[in-house]
Amino acid sequence: MAKYIETISAEEQYDIVIVGAGISGLTLAERYASAGKKVLVVEKHDHIGGNCYDFINQAGILVSKYGPHYFHTNDEGVWKYVNNFSLWHPYEHRVIGHYQGKTFPIPVNRNTINILCNETLQNENDVEHWLAEHAVPIEHPKNAEEAVLARMGPDLYEYIFKGYTTKQWGKSPEELFPEVTNRIPIRTNTDDRYFTDQYQAMPAKGYTALFEAMIQGDRIDILLGTEWSDIKNEVISFQKLFFTGKIDQYFDHMHGILEYRSLRFEFETLNQEWYQLKAQENYPSLDVPYTRIVEYKRATGQIHPQTTISREYSTDEGEPYYPVPSERNRIIYAQYQAAAEQLEDAGIYFVGRLANYKYFNMDQAFRNALDMFSSLEGGSTC
Ligand code: UDP
Repeated sequence: MAKYIETISAEEQYDIVIVGAGISGLTLAERYASAGKKVLVVEKHDHIGGNCYDFINQAGILVSKYGPHYFHTNDEGVWKYVNNFSLWHPYEHRVIGHYQGKTFPIPVNRNTINILCNETLQNENDVEHWLAEHAVPIEHPKNAEEAVLARMGPDLYEYIFKGYTTKQWGKSPEELFPEVTNRIPIRTNTDDRYFTDQYQAMPAKGYTALFEAMIQGDRIDILLGTEWSDIKNEVISFQKLFFTGKIDQYFDHMHGILEYRSLRFEFETLNQEWYQLKAQENYPSLDVPYTRIVEYKRATGQIHPQTTISREYSTDEGEPYYPVPSERNRIIYAQYQAAAEQLEDAGIYFVGRLANYKYFNMDQAFRNALDMFSSLEGGSTC
C-alpha cells in the first residue's frame, strides 16, 4: 500500500518527485516504483485521482466529485495497462439532447436530423445529400462556429451547438478554435454511441479504487493537501521531477494567466430508482442554465433503490478543468512551453492536461505518461 505521509522526513531520499496525483502523476508513480525507484507524490487536494476522483456518497451511490468520466480507447497498450489494476464494467456511452420539447441523439446522426429538422431521411445517401445541401461552404473553418456550419449547417448549429458551447465556455463559439466542436462527429447512419472506440468501459469499483491499486507497494509516499510551492524548498534532491499542475502557476504567472474553464455540480439524490433514460442528457438551449444532467448509476451499472444526479454549470472560477483553446491562450502557453523545455536539463518535466495546456481524453493521458516513462528510461512502451 502506498504510504500516506503527513510531512516530509529529512532522512527520506526520493529518486522521483511527482506533483499531482491524477492520471499522469499516478501512472508515472506506478512505472517508477515498479522500476525500483522511491517516489514522492505531492497533491494539493485531500484525495488522489485528480478530476477522476469518485466516492460513495451518503446514500451509498458511487459518484464523481468532478463530473463523469467515461473511459474509451482504441489503444491496445493503454487498455492492457489499465486492466492490470481493475476489472472493467462494459459501458457504451449514449447521450440524448433536449431542445424545445424535442429529444434527439447526440452526436448528430440520421435520426437527429429527422427529429430536429422534420425530415424523413431513409439511408446514408439521403443524409449525405442533406448535408451537402445544408452545410455552409467554408473551406477552412477558423473557429468553432464555422467548424459546425461547414459540417452540418445553421439549423443543427443553432439547436445543438450554439447555446451549449456558449454556456460551456462562457465565450461565443466564434472566439474558440475549431477543435472544440470538431471533437463531436457527425454520422450518416443511426449509430447513437457517443464514442466508437473498441474498448468502452468503467472501472468496476470506480476510478479511485483503480488508482489505489496502481500505487500499491511501499515505494510510493503520498503527501496530500499540500501545494508544491509551499514545500519545494524542503525537497532538496531528486533525479527527476514531474509537474502535472497548471504550468502558469509553476512559473508564478510570469507570462500571464492562462484561462481554465471550470464546472460547478449540483448534486441531488432522489428516492426513486431512475431519473432519466441515459447517463448523460444535454440541454443546449440558453433558456436552461445548466449544460447537462448526469445520472451516475446509468454508467457505473450500480444497482440501488435511489439515484443520484448532478446538474452541471460552467463557470470561470473553481477547479481548473478545461484549457480554453483560444488565440490569446495559445500565445501565452507557447511562452511557458519554451520555459518548460529549458528545465529538462535539470530533470524537470511537464506532463498532463494542465501542464501541457491541452484537453486530453483519459486514454491519451495514460498514453502520454507511459510514453514519457519509456522515452526517459528506455524499455518497451506498453
Ligand atoms: N457540444 C455542444 N453540444 C453538445 C455537446 C457538445 O455544443 O450537446 C460542444 C461543446 O462546445 C463542447 C464540445 O462540443 O465543449 C465537446 O464536447 P464533449 O462532449 O467532448 O465535451 P466534454 O464532455 O469533454 O466536456
